[in-house]
Amino acid sequence: MTLRLYNTLTKTKEDFDPLNPAKVRMYVCGPTVYDFAHIGNARPAIVFDVLFRLLRHTYGDAHVIYVRNITDVDDKINARAAERNISIRDLTEETARIYAEDIAALGCLPPTVTPRATEHIAQMIRIIEQLIAAGHAYEADGHVLFDVSSKADYGKLARRSLDEMIAGARVDVAPYKKGAMDFVLWKPSDAATPGWESPWGRGRPGWHIECSAMAGEYLGETFDIHGGGIDLMFPHHENEIAQSEGAHHGHPLAKVWMHNGFLQVEGEKMSKSLGNFVTIRDHLPISDKFGGRSWDGHTLRFAMLQTHYRQPIDWTVEGLKAAEKVLARWKEVLNSFPVALQSDIQPPVRFMAALEDDLNLPQAIAEMHSLADAARRGSYQAAQELSRAGEIIGISWIDVQSQSQEYQIRQAVADLSDEDGSIRELVEARNVARKAKNFAESDRIRDELLARGIVLKDGPQGTTWEVKR
Ligand code: AMP
Ligand code: ZN
Repeated sequence: MTLRLYNTLTKTKEDFDPLNPAKVRMYVCGPTVYDFAHIGNARPAIVFDVLFRLLRHTYGDAHVIYVRNITDVDDKINARAAERNISIRDLTEETARIYAEDIAALGCLPPTVTPRATEHIAQMIRIIEQLIAAGHAYEADGHVLFDVSSKADYGKLARRSLDEMIAGARVDVAPYKKGAMDFVLWKPSDAATPGWESPWGRGRPGWHIECSAMAGEYLGETFDIHGGGIDLMFPHHENEIAQSEGAHHGHPLAKVWMHNGFLQVEGEKMSKSLGNFVTIRDHLPISDKFGGRSWDGHTLRFAMLQTHYRQPIDWTVEGLKAAEKVLARWKEVLNSFPVALQSDIQPPVRFMAALEDDLNLPQAIAEMHSLADAARRGSYQAAQELSRAGEIIGISWIDVQSQSQEYQIRQAVADLSDEDGSIRELVEARNVARKAKNFAESDRIRDELLARGIVLKDGPQGTTWEVKR
């Protein structure tokens, strides 16, 4: 099977044919770090993590480079740091750390490179100089702007004409702009605003130029896949294309452009003013946002994958509960086999075919349901395939919880409460009972521990416990 991906640039599903199969390259726009990531931000992280895993599976772990940047220079960051009366560096460090923790809790692998915008100012300045030299950019009133009229195919990603774009966009009509759609590459900073020395005076970069600089630095002029949420297609990605191609003699920036659909909450657009704004953290066991209910990161991930990545998704508590139930049932089935499941088997064929068809997760998950049914009827092969399928899309069968400190503390408390070793003994006795299929006894031990406030969690790697919440 060949991997097929829907390319927003051509509006068709295409066979994926990497420029160099020994070095498959993907760039995804990362977060602007000034606040907790919301559950919508989790979507591109999860979707492109599934793709990263699939590419690693196909081409080998060492042959895939995944770059996801951190935007740590932005006027929203400056405003928030001032509001909280902390330094910009402290704010961006703290937020980037929390983002990494949250995304790890969702079962996402760290990207190969996580570059920060502020560490690539020199590369941005170089591209801007190249653009000026090539006649694609001009300096005006301390700013440098991209001259949209200099690039005949501007709008090819969004598929809009210049007139449509002008009509549809709320464009800044700054007096120094030659054309209404011209966008900022560099802007001046006053003494109170972060700034870097440049040929155009002390200033800071516009938003779009960062991604062109970081993508160029780590992936070269042309790479395989560029991803992000659908909201970024215009103007952000259109402008990345204009900048990178303008600076690189028209060489394309990326072969395939991929965009995830938007997430809304309980049928409504998520927004702070509607009061339905939820962060990733709000869902995790460390939070009380959902009235005492919480979900581990893998349940959030699995719930997210129920909808095709290009479709809009309606994020609901019902959906979370349903995802939780399915995972619990599957874990139960897998744990019912007394023999350890092998993880080095070939992944199931129909599951892979669905995944390779533009990440058709709803279909792939349907295949997993069939495998679970067969496993429930006693098929050891089906159980192994189900387990393997989960691994491919990053669903851990061990209960992976939020990696937050609070969680670690709770776990440490659980371990401490076994001072006399009696919990461990009971867990072992229960494992013996389970192996002997003496489920009455194993259930009795589970209940005995529960009465002591200890919850057991079974996984293919063994049983862990924690203090009941
Ligand atoms: P931002 O920090 O707002 O630039 O967003 C980071 C990533 O999250 C981008 O790829 C956005 O497209 C994506 N994103 C933001 N909001 C949503 C949403 N409601 N649904 C899906 N993706 C989103
Ligand atoms: Zn970007």
